[in-house]
Amino acid sequence: MKALQDKVAIVTGASRGIGKAIALALASEGASVAINYASSSAAAEAVAADIQGMGGQAIALQADVSKPDQVDGFIAAVMEKWGRVDVLVNNAGITRDTLLLRMGLEEWQAVIDLNLTGVFLCTKAISKIMLKQKSGRIINIASVAGQMGNPGQANYSAAKAGVIGFTKTVAKELSTRSITVNAVAPGFIETDMTEGLKADDILKFIPLGRYGKPEEIAGMVKFLAADPAAAYITGQTFNVDGGMVMA
Ligand code: NAP
Repeated sequence: MKALQDKVAIVTGASRGIGKAIALALASEGASVAINYASSSAAAEAVAADIQGMGGQAIALQADVSKPDQVDGFIAAVMEKWGRVDVLVNNAGITRDTLLLRMGLEEWQAVIDLNLTGVFLCTKAISKIMLKQKSGRIINIASVAGQMGNPGQANYSAAKAGVIGFTKTVAKELSTRSITVNAVAPGFIETDMTEGLKADDILKFIPLGRYGKPEEIAGMVKFLAADPAAAYITGQTFNVDGGMVMA
């Protein structure tokens, strides 16, 4: 039997990049997957079709997860279809990079609203369901920027550091009902988000000497979702970064 057979997973921001790889990886283990996206409906439908083509179950659902009413509607649609949620992956994220002195409140707020408040909204809504079920896995996609900082990313690194702290607190609050909450901190992964940022001098800071692939983040998420393999792990942040951060 597959590790996630009969489980239901939600992946936010799963139309492209890391979220798409996570959705496909969870489906390959038997999970039914809700593929959330903001605007790329054709790409999200294609991910759902890929999963259905593998014999799995998937639905693509549009929602801006920084907006409380849209989060509620999205989760209601998942509950209506499958009646439970076993795995939540808070993956949706954006960047609005610029140096601090040039950063406007709009650029600050947009990144905090999605990358931190979006994680809060989805986790709060889903934790009510998981508390009733007395089980669940919540996996938050953070970043090495939240651990080491990165010039031009004051907004993004603040949000991602916030996600790491949030992960620890929620892990403690939900622990009595066997719900685990962990974070994965990717390094430099080849996706649309990092397109145009590649430069030889970045590779000097990556001990493994190459950029990461979305599938390499998905592998860690799949492990953290699996039962019983990861059942005794909570409140942790796992770096998948080619060695960029060594604590
Ligand atoms: P990406 O390729 O830019 O994809 C972003 C995804 O988020 C898309 O599916 C997008 O949907 C969705 N999204 C954007 N705004 C949204 C909103 N308001 N509500 C719901 N979904 C929304 O990004 P990525 O590189 O895969 O990054 C995924 C996660 O990994 C992010 O949290 C990012 O911060 C984190 N991360 C990435 C790297 C990296 O090197 N790439 C490193 C560290 C951490 P649409 O297609 O509809 O726009």
